Amino acid sequence: MPLNIKTTCIDCGYESVFKMQETRCPKCGSQWREASYDYKSIGKNLVNELSHRPHSLWRYHELLPVEAAIPDVSLGEGVTPIYRAVNLGMMLGCPNIYIKDERQGPTNSFKDRQAVVTVAALKEAGIKELVLASTGNVAIAYSAYAARAGIKLWAFLTSRVPAEKMREVALYGTQVIKVTGTYDLTKKVAADFAEQRNIFHDLGAKCIPCIEAMKTIAFEISEQLTNRLGPPDDALWRTPDWYFQSVSGGMGPLGVIKGFQELADMGLASSTLPKLGVIQSAGCAPMVHAWKKNAQEAEPVTNPRTLIETLATGTPGRTYTRIREKMLAASGGVFESVTDEETFRTMHLLAKMEGISVEPAAAVTVAGLIKLVRQGIIKSDETIVINCTGHTMPIEPVILGDSWGSSVDLSDEGEDKEEGLLAAISEITAERYPCVAIIDDNADARRLLRRILQSQGDYTLFEAGNGKEALELITKEMPDLILLDLMMPEMDGFDVMEALQKDEQTAEIPIIVVTAQELTQAQRNRLNGHIQLLLQKGDFLSDDLENEVRSLLK
Ligand SMILES: [Zn+2]
Repeated sequence: MPLNIKTTCIDCGYESVFKMQETRCPKCGSQWREASYDYKSIGKNLVNELSHRPHSLWRYHELLPVEAAIPDVSLGEGVTPIYRAVNLGMMLGCPNIYIKDERQGPTNSFKDRQAVVTVAALKEAGIKELVLASTGNVAIAYSAYAARAGIKLWAFLTSRVPAEKMREVALYGTQVIKVTGTYDLTKKVAADFAEQRNIFHDLGAKCIPCIEAMKTIAFEISEQLTNRLGPPDDALWRTPDWYFQSVSGGMGPLGVIKGFQELADMGLASSTLPKLGVIQSAGCAPMVHAWKKNAQEAEPVTNPRTLIETLATGTPGRTYTRIREKMLAASGGVFESVTDEETFRTMHLLAKMEGISVEPAAAVTVAGLIKLVRQGIIKSDETIVINCTGHTMPIEPVILGDSWGSSVDLSDEGEDKEEGLLAAISEITAERYPCVAIIDDNADARRLLRRILQSQGDYTLFEAGNGKEALELITKEMPDLILLDLMMPEMDGFDVMEALQKDEQTAEIPIIVVTAQELTQAQRNRLNGHIQLLLQKGDFLSDDLENEVRSLLK
């Protein structure tokens, strides 16, 4: 089916039919153009069609600048799963946090979307060579699809890209050019090279298929939330209140917000677009600086200071201005930054508490969310979707340090392997671990506390769901520490505390109260002097509790 996509120049308004070979506005030469489609007619059929379409981003093919319904370069990208982050939500007091798991793309990042759509469009246009600059993930994604499409790829990478990522790019047969210098300099070298040799150059936010590909994140989020939660009162499809993503160049959010706008234009979703949470690394946060000064243009950061190389674009250029315009025209949003330290702490937290090991760039997003919840910018009843991407190497050594596991050495056991194995296992399990009792009537809350402690691996845990059971358990097991909820039916936490105090044997056991209740002064007085610490549910992170527990058990 020949494409019928209109491109409109953002600078002079000139309209033309989309052609992949045409990288500038034919009238004024601007590279900033936007694609549009016949939304009314596509919207009419799309919903009915979807039930028999493949589970890949090609299920929305009429909204992509590729002729084939499913191009043969496809590796099944898109339609990544979405899950509720239950433990994180409980810790933050925001139960409706969802993770869009972009790690599950063919090369483990959301850049697969951009790569497959752009490479498919290049192949259809007969273009056989491509130049790009990358901080890692883009080069890996394009390398995979370029291999399938028979396109020669030149990838310009900064020398700060981890060697593992560089080798992965080379493995696909891509020509890797390592540039010693910043990412902005690397982009310039790539652009000059492409111009000299007259090779097609992928310009990210200025490349129509790239932006168009990112829209599919919005389409999927909306379709998936609707399947999970049902449609809202005022539309067929549900959209979240917030979409969160960390940015380097900023193309992702620009494409995603266009996707939500198109859902509204097709009459599928509400015209109230989600707010954007755009997060940068504090060592390279030109967009955040500009946003906080209410400036339309971002000033470049010439010397990025972050370990997170994938986010080290110092010159966002016009992408910032365009995201800001779209944000202000829609429902708003915010740019925020987080330090590397906050990021690594969050990366560990996400792995321990949600079972999701992301790359640092994605941990930046979650760290930004935590910060904005703490600032009261995110409301507890809002629905938030976070883009999580990437493999974790190579930052684990920084996070975990040296003592992250136990080892069993069986190399010298000779004949009696069986006996050696048993001895080795009993060595690991011989220690007596501190014993902690978790008392809470809410099973989810017990699971959260259990998970926080068991992720450290060295506690014996007991649990009780009501006050009476708790007293029996504590008298029997004599724990070293008690985590106590206050609001429980029949016998509440106050009564448990007072009963323990009356018994000589249990009177000295330290107690941490973990409660969702806003306490009155009288209630505070009742606790005063009888407990070691008061924690408010939804207002502490796993590390905070871990540290308190450890210091009380010393
Ligand atoms: Zn123009």
